[in-house]
Amino acid sequence: MSPMDFLPFALPDITDREIDAVVAALRSGWITTGPRTREFEQRFSAAAGGGEVVMVNSCTAAMHLALEAIGIQPGDEVIVPTMTFAATAEVVRYLGATPVLVDVLAADHNIDPLAVERAVTSRTRAVIPVHFAGMPCDIDSVTDLGRARGLVVIDDAAHCFPCEYRGRPVGTWADVTAFSFYATKTMTTAEGGAAVTTRPDWAERMRVMSLHGISKDAWKRYSVEGSWYYEIIAPGFKYNMTDIAAALGLVQLERAEEMTDARRRIADQYDSAFAESDTFEVIPRHADRGHSHHLYVLKLRPGALRVGRGEVIERLKQRGVGASVHFIPLHLHPYYRDRFGYRPDSNPIALDLFERSFSLPIYSRMATADVQRVVEAVLDIAREGRR
Ligand SMILES: *Cc1c(COP(=O)(O)O)cnc(C)c1O
Repeated sequence: MSPMDFLPFALPDITDREIDAVVAALRSGWITTGPRTREFEQRFSAAAGGGEVVMVNSCTAAMHLALEAIGIQPGDEVIVPTMTFAATAEVVRYLGATPVLVDVLAADHNIDPLAVERAVTSRTRAVIPVHFAGMPCDIDSVTDLGRARGLVVIDDAAHCFPCEYRGRPVGTWADVTAFSFYATKTMTTAEGGAAVTTRPDWAERMRVMSLHGISKDAWKRYSVEGSWYYEIIAPGFKYNMTDIAAALGLVQLERAEEMTDARRRIADQYDSAFAESDTFEVIPRHADRGHSHHLYVLKLRPGALRVGRGEVIERLKQRGVGASVHFIPLHLHPYYRDRFGYRPDSNPIALDLFERSFSLPIYSRMATADVQRVVEAVLDIAREGRR
């Protein structure tokens, strides 16, 4: 097999339109935060339910800014599902607060609202639900609980755009929503992210803190309507988005629905191959929610094969198929385990899901024949490995 035959796990969907837009930004004379970033903020706001948008250089930055804006302090607790990427909990540590890692639901790998309720203490200030693989969690239960217990809800929507929940677009479900435009996500600016909120004071604080805590941004300072004067009101961060990234994002945003439709067709193909399998389990979709199909996760049924999940991924690789695992639960990692005293069975559902899960390639440019090739590889491995 030549390296050209290897089917990657993820691939960005970049057309000539994105390339032309980036070249135009490069030729314009303004390459960092400027008019394209402002336009991207306005257009993204329209697609995310109308809240104020602060474009930044990652979802991690957006979550950090959100926690800072709501006033998270050392000693505060923030509830985070253990089944997530590093970013969701590390931002809590940036502010010296304690991430409390809770278990997820076996049905959809999403945060368990009852586990959130059990984890609330007098020190809890916020909860950061993740919409695993692109399917919304039971967000209404989380926000109801947040309202009852005085918690701020910050959505980690890194997997979840575009999407709807009971007719409402993502960006309107929580107090603040953080989006990712990382290279593998459903729309990309290579690196990038957005924070969305309807609270004007939080939006203003996030905007100021995203650029050194300076009360006016550089574009306004150097453009004709600006002036040389600025004030530093807090020691901020350096999280601003470039206009090169925004140029890419403006085109990706226009194509976001079309790219999600393509992902959905791939997920449908996988579902029809695996939904009735006695070797694998798929994650069933909820009837009342959309799905952005960022990931396609399959699980081994307990005892179905002689080989484990790791061996399945290795055999897929030998057949030229890139697979991955989402995620190694945070409470199993040395840092969280040792610093906060978790044991593997502290979150038993996430542990079990992790041990049986693997993620198949899914991206909008993936050809139907390639999806079929993945299906055949998975079914072959199942046949060979059967007890
Ligand atoms: C990718 C990802 C992030 C981080 O996004 P960046 O834009 O790379 O900072 C955060 N949370 C989850 C669940 C992710 O998958």
